[in-house]
Amino acid sequence: MVYDEKQQAIAAKIDPETVLKNWKDWKWQLRHLVRSIAMFERLLEIRLDDADKEKLEETIQRFPLAITPYYLSLIDTTDYKNDPIFKQAFPSVSELLVGEFEMRDPLHEEKDSPVPWITHRYPDRVLFQVCGICSMYCRHCTRKRKVGDEAATPGRDEIRLGIEYIKKTPSIRDVLLSGGDPFLMADDDIDWILAEIQSIPHVEVIRIGTRTPVVLPYRITDGLLSILKKHHPLWVNTHFNHPREITESARQALGKMADAGIPLGNQTVLLAGVNDSPAIIKKLVHKLVQNRVRPYYLYQCDLAEGLKHFRTPVGKGVEIMENLIGHTSGFAVPNYVIDAPGGGGKIRVMPNYLLSWSTDKVVLRNYEGVITTYQEPEIYENIYKNKEAEISGNLEEAMEYKAVGIAKLLSDLDDTISLIPENTERIQRSNV
Ligand SMILES: *Cc1c(COP(=O)(O)O)cnc(C)c1O
Ligand code: SF4
Repeated sequence: MVYDEKQQAIAAKIDPETVLKNWKDWKWQLRHLVRSIAMFERLLEIRLDDADKEKLEETIQRFPLAITPYYLSLIDTTDYKNDPIFKQAFPSVSELLVGEFEMRDPLHEEKDSPVPWITHRYPDRVLFQVCGICSMYCRHCTRKRKVGDEAATPGRDEIRLGIEYIKKTPSIRDVLLSGGDPFLMADDDIDWILAEIQSIPHVEVIRIGTRTPVVLPYRITDGLLSILKKHHPLWVNTHFNHPREITESARQALGKMADAGIPLGNQTVLLAGVNDSPAIIKKLVHKLVQNRVRPYYLYQCDLAEGLKHFRTPVGKGVEIMENLIGHTSGFAVPNYVIDAPGGGGKIRVMPNYLLSWSTDKVVLRNYEGVITTYQEPEIYENIYKNKEAEISGNLEEAMEYKAVGIAKLLSDLDDTISLIPENTERIQRSNV
């Protein structure tokens, strides 16, 4: 890899003796996190407005500052105030302004939590926050209230409690390790957690959410990969928000994970002033698929405290989807989701393609604006209707089949004609 001049200059200021010798050592990067405004100014040779500094200091008391030297080197100092990397990494005085609709825990991750560190919202999968720290604190983080609080990291005993919960809950087939950033744990701890979870017979798949490929790509070491490879099927989701984040180092990290057989996904947060443009998102998704990463989610910015300046109208997200669907490869198009405030989970949002209906035709429109019809079949025999038992050969099992939500209203094996939301398992769990 060729180091650019900026990396050279930053490294020389951090450690004049060794300069770039340790740059690619992730632990060196962590030892030299930029944690103060003065350090930020010194390393980038930027002078911030003195008028803002007191407020900025107050901001980082509340929501800590940490930037890896690597991510810092991506900031365009010639126009840093409008730079998408700067905006994600450097505090804004706006973070202290809590808007009327903002909440500490907008997604009710704590309310839907049967044991500490686990959020059990959907029937078959859990979110397990195994690590409370990150290498960089994203200013737009939805878990701002707690990430960066180094005391808020579970120890092995607490993680064991979470593992016990998964063990005694047979409906869980998918465990999503998140945080914080799980890849900030030591290799041995990662190996231990993955082995423990993998040994639970009903767990079919493990996912890890990490931003290290974006902010600390050197974390993806051969040692880490040899551990991850032992625990397939393992999926990794990362968090690229802007095409400029896909650097040579990031590409290498992604390539190594893909070569290790890990399916890669990406979750982008739609952020005002960072990536709220169809052109930027399109470029981002194209670069992602070039690097074997499937765009998975495009998130509407949550109603978390202090994120007001990052929020866009939902219409911006719909406009972006309109510009992607049909216009580019289907597998480059993420799902645009709003994570429902209050814990309703992710809700997919997109333009309408189904325009109208009759008993024998549907009217659709495509991305070009062509309006077309699809003729429904003249004869359709719903062979599965009421035949569930016959097909499975097991009446008991078929009778036990219980659809949930709107699917329950559609089910042929269920007489429900209306839904009473208070009866969901999720709400019962949070009441115990
Ligand atoms: C996002 C999330 C999941 C995973 O959802 P998928 O749509 O399956 O990716 C699981 N649990 C919680 C609490 C989540 O927020
Ligand atoms: S890496 Fe994820 S958890 Fe950590 S600060 Fe960024 S958004 Fe939050």
